[in-house]
Amino acid sequence: MLEHIELGRVFVISAPSGTGKTTLVKKLLKNHPNFKLSVSWTTRPPRPDEMDGRDYHFVSQSEFLEASKNNNFLEFEIVHRYYYGTPRQDVKKNIQDGYTVILDIDTKGALTIRKSCPQAILIFIQPPSIEDLENRLRQRATESEQDIKRRLQNAHQEMSIKSKFDYVIINNKLDHAYDELERCITSYTKRA
Ligand code: ADP
Ligand code: 5GP
Repeated sequence: MLEHIELGRVFVISAPSGTGKTTLVKKLLKNHPNFKLSVSWTTRPPRPDEMDGRDYHFVSQSEFLEASKNNNFLEFEIVHRYYYGTPRQDVKKNIQDGYTVILDIDTKGALTIRKSCPQAILIFIQPPSIEDLENRLRQRATESEQDIKRRLQNAHQEMSIKSKFDYVIINNKLDHAYDELERCITSYTKRA
């Protein structure tokens, strides 16, 4: 169902956890009312500032597994020991309603989307270094020490996949990274 959409309608943004992807995507959505975030389902518990239905659909493991059995996800993965999935119907509806759809998903999920939607543009956001990544995760202070270690370990594997993406943007200075991301996306949406 996503095989035939035009270039410039679906953008997949991935990054190791703590890089600043959510910060960048939130700014993008604020500045572009015609962009819509695909709100994923997850079994991860909400963080204090997160809202159900806005940041994620927070569900139990049995609800998630039932939905995956019913083929409700375009892709789903276990990331940092929780389930995360992209809801098929929501993405389809947002495309039909004329939005540019942004998927904020992990690197494996991104490569799955590439198969079902070859016109999707894949953007990898890279931290300046693993040390910076660790500092950002610690400064965000939303994960336990064990979860921070798990996210740092996974970061190495995620970085090794970045060459499969269409664009790599280094999030060193936030404003520079944002400008680069916005330029990259709008260069397609202006054409579309
Ligand atoms: P992600 O969604 O990739 O896990 P977040 O957007 O939650 O990452 O950012 C992780 C932390 O790093 C947040 O506290 C955020 O304010 C901070 N951050 C984001 N971008 C930068 C940057 N360019 N320089 C310094 N800190 C940043
Ligand atoms: P967080 O728990 O920090 O919000 O997200 C952890 C990781 O899961 C991030 O890399 C995020 O992009 C990814 N993620 C969020 N939603 C989805 C999804 O629907 N599918 C996949 N594959 N990954 C997701």
